[in-house]
Amino acid sequence: MSGIESRGPESESNLVNMPETPTTEVDVPEPYRKNEGDGAAAKAGEKPAEKANEKAKGKTAYRDTNAKTIIELKGVTKTFVRGKEPLTVLDGLTLDVHEGAFEALMGPSGSGKSTLLNLIAGLDRPTSGMAKVAGNDLSTMSDGDLARFRSRHIGFIFQAYNLMPVLTALENVELPLLLTKLSSADRRKRAQTALRAVGLEDRMAHYPRQLSGGQEQRVAIARAIVNDPTIIVADEPTGDLDRKAADDILTLLTKLNEEFKKTILMVTHDPSAAERATATRHLNKGKLE
Ligand code: ADP
Ligand code: MG
Repeated sequence: MSGIESRGPESESNLVNMPETPTTEVDVPEPYRKNEGDGAAAKAGEKPAEKANEKAKGKTAYRDTNAKTIIELKGVTKTFVRGKEPLTVLDGLTLDVHEGAFEALMGPSGSGKSTLLNLIAGLDRPTSGMAKVAGNDLSTMSDGDLARFRSRHIGFIFQAYNLMPVLTALENVELPLLLTKLSSADRRKRAQTALRAVGLEDRMAHYPRQLSGGQEQRVAIARAIVNDPTIIVADEPTGDLDRKAADDILTLLTKLNEEFKKTILMVTHDPSAAERATATRHLNKGKLE
């Protein structure tokens, strides 16, 4: 378990230690329990109302200066070498995201948005620079530690859902839990809770082909949250959906952010999707502006 920062039992997300220590807490199939008060900020002795006020001021106003930084990138570069031509996609990039934020990331196609999300999610490492996420310095971690980091802290949502066609909705959502020591009964309970949280309690036995695109994406979101991650990264989550289904997905993401205190970083091309986030960043020429 070296190199991974684990949150203590007093943490507001009470199930994060589940993969390594499936003890009594594991019986509680409520990973989406609402936080009372204002989570970390309340604990630090601040007024819970502050955050709500900040938010009410408008989308650019959301800067809870008391919230701690959960994603911190400094001087991050990412260079791909294809054949003999090196391609620098991220070029000395700096990013600070506060715990509890819901941020949109925009930028032209090929500008490195997915590359950046993959780095933050621990799916890839920077070529140089510092990437600290949920207290972990990702640039120095072993593959095994990165895998544990991901299973503890990251829920990933893709544009194309990436569900397994031969598995039911319930089985798809259970998949990430196969890496844990949970019993099959507990896995099932957790997956059911996650599917209820996304409003699909009546679709658990359906296969992906029997679901609409919006429902498939909701299964994918249930799969992303079943481990009770700290951070949700979403790469164009509404890119394949019509307006109504896209709005439903954005409403669900907003709920995960506001009620369940998930930090969300969402890549999107859609300005009205970005509107739903509390801040928008633009990636251009390898840097954020
Ligand atoms: P975006 O998501 O903004 O469209 P990407 O992050 O997917 O952009 O890609 C940025 C650039 O990096 C593109 O030119 C892409 O071809 C290149 N790229 C991404 N991943 C790799 C890889 N694994 N190997 C080589 N080149 C890559
Ligand atoms: Mg992309």
